[in-house]
Amino acid sequence: MNHPSELFGSMVFSDVVMQERLPKKTLQALRASIEHGERLNPKVAAVVANAMKEWALEKGATHFTHWFQPMTGITAEKHDSFITPLGNGVGIMEFSSKELTQGEPDASSFPSGGLRSTFEARGYTAWDPTSYAFVRDGILYIPTAFCSYGGEALDKKTPLLRSMEALDKQAMRVLRLFGNKEAQTVRSTAGPEQEYFLIDQKLYKKRKDLIYTGRTLFGARPPKGQELEDHYFGTINARVTAFMKELNEELWKLGVPARTEHNEVAPSQHELAPVFSTVNIAADQNQLTMEMMRRIAEKHGMVCLLHEKPFAGVNGSGKHNNWSIATDTGENLLDPGDTPFENARFLTFLCAVIKAVDDYQDLLRISTASAGNDHRLGASEAPPAIISIYLGDELTNILEALKNETTYTGGEKEQFQVGVHSLPSFPKDSTDRNRTSPFAFTGNKFEFRMVGSSASISEANIVLNTIVAESLRQFADRLENAEDFNADLQCLIRDEIRAHDRILFNGNGYGSEWEYEAEKRGLLNMKSTPDCLPHMLDEKNIKLFETHKVLSETEVRARCEIKLENYCKVLNIEGLTMVDMVMKDIIPSVNHYIRTLAESASAKKQMMAVSPFETEVAQKLSNLIANTYEISKKLDEALIAAKADEETEKQAMNYRNIVFPLMNELRITVDEMETLTDESYWPYPSYGKMLFNIQ
Ligand code: ADP
Ligand code: MG
Repeated sequence: MNHPSELFGSMVFSDVVMQERLPKKTLQALRASIEHGERLNPKVAAVVANAMKEWALEKGATHFTHWFQPMTGITAEKHDSFITPLGNGVGIMEFSSKELTQGEPDASSFPSGGLRSTFEARGYTAWDPTSYAFVRDGILYIPTAFCSYGGEALDKKTPLLRSMEALDKQAMRVLRLFGNKEAQTVRSTAGPEQEYFLIDQKLYKKRKDLIYTGRTLFGARPPKGQELEDHYFGTINARVTAFMKELNEELWKLGVPARTEHNEVAPSQHELAPVFSTVNIAADQNQLTMEMMRRIAEKHGMVCLLHEKPFAGVNGSGKHNNWSIATDTGENLLDPGDTPFENARFLTFLCAVIKAVDDYQDLLRISTASAGNDHRLGASEAPPAIISIYLGDELTNILEALKNETTYTGGEKEQFQVGVHSLPSFPKDSTDRNRTSPFAFTGNKFEFRMVGSSASISEANIVLNTIVAESLRQFADRLENAEDFNADLQCLIRDEIRAHDRILFNGNGYGSEWEYEAEKRGLLNMKSTPDCLPHMLDEKNIKLFETHKVLSETEVRARCEIKLENYCKVLNIEGLTMVDMVMKDIIPSVNHYIRTLAESASAKKQMMAVSPFETEVAQKLSNLIANTYEISKKLDEALIAAKADEETEKQAMNYRNIVFPLMNELRITVDEMETLTDESYWPYPSYGKMLFNIQ
């Protein structure tokens, strides 16, 4: 079992396995339920459950688990054995339809944002047959959604599935207007490119900040950083290669189509991209990928850091969410196509995305907001906190021509009268070179680059699906009443471009000129998580989610509360960790060094030698200690004061406006001490060691 093609999907209860093991009728019923969301008849479920169990036992499984994605951002599982004792010391392996389709984890400790009162604290899990079950470590994993007894979503999967339905419904209306009779469903697809760092486990274990918070809270810049860009796409060293090989194999077994891997810009930073699939499966698989990265790194004596900004002054990690929409007949609706007919359809869907991104910039920004991602977005690093769309010059010129009803003169081609049915062919530049755009069209898909490396891709895709569904709803409403479809479509597209072209920007997204220009255009620029989160509750946003039955107002409020709480908790832990490191490790260590310097100075004095180094450095360090201690005390007080406000929104603002600046101030003095202190006295491994250690 070494050939990758044999490995791939070998631990997955896949379509092929189902075809082999399920009676035809059962398979048909299951497929109908998957494609059209029909409820599965319990008798059919029982047959599926039994086949799944038999298959899982052959794969060495003894237990099963309902695998779900609570609002914590990671996945949760609770294992149950297949064994049912018969009473006389004998047991049989059983797995009922109910055990497959519904579970009741005692999961009252997961965040619910107030959705569950304690007397009805238990949520329940429901099988999601649209994502494949798989066996890992002797356990059958069943992907499930997690809801409260009132039916409110307590997880990231439920609204994602609802948003796919919303998009399906509206996109089908538009497709039918184009005369498409074959397609039965439309689904969004995603291919998330995952960035991560690998560092040596021994060094990791010496850093409290990495252990408690996933990022370094202190650390002076090493003499060499990423400026030579000699790591990007460089040769991958042996230890990392061994890790990647095992990771690929393990992911392939689980049906995760890991495809591309390379070194990233920062030292010790890497990337893995899978082949895309429907967003639901892609979201599950990305969670699995992150888990497997962590586990396998450990086996190789390394730690995989998924934090958005593990090292200051070095590029952070994101997750480029490639996104498109496709029919069940295999047509990519964001592919410009070759015929006039395909052109018109492409333009319609393209405009739906442009309108959606402009109308709901806030929601897209919010979908990527977290304490960790605040260090990337709006911090003069990829990408900025301002949402804009990159289309490339050719496509932009075509839209210009459509908007102004003029001829298109782009490229070296003849002048061209552009209509929705007569796009000039243009080069599909799928390797766009504008890496500074947060939302770039790359030939036949969009790449949303703001998602944080540790985040679930669900939130971003829930928003993408829903906002595009809303554009399409409005288009369908208008076009369904059209007297002359073609003429009306031409007008609609012209109007939409006129209304939304402020969101199009092909220039450098990092420059301060863009910030200024974006402000003139009226685009939002929400720099931090507490700045943007409260806008989740804006009337237009609640209305959007309710219209498309993706989230109720209560659910939106709960989610906002959970995200704000999470922000506060993260900053609180980070602040406390800093104080702990300063008081217990850093000041005592520097004091030791000062004593050594003093001893050396007095020895030199006895010899009548001068000791400017010892005297000056000891003095500087003593002053820095005094400073550090002062700031650390202030931080300690601020951490207590931040919590004094009742409202979570106010607390989050306190953390952002009072705690966060103190953390930065503290870091500056400590990092300065590090540059002055003998490395053997410094209590933690340096940036240089961590970033350039893995050979
Ligand atoms: P690039 O290198 O230009 O970013 P790739 O072809 O390498 O483009 O794709 C990057 C990611 O985008 C991959 O994960 C790929 O599977 C994904 N992708 C490609 N086509 C689509 C699509 N239609 N929908 C969603 N994701 C896609
Ligand atoms: Mg890419």
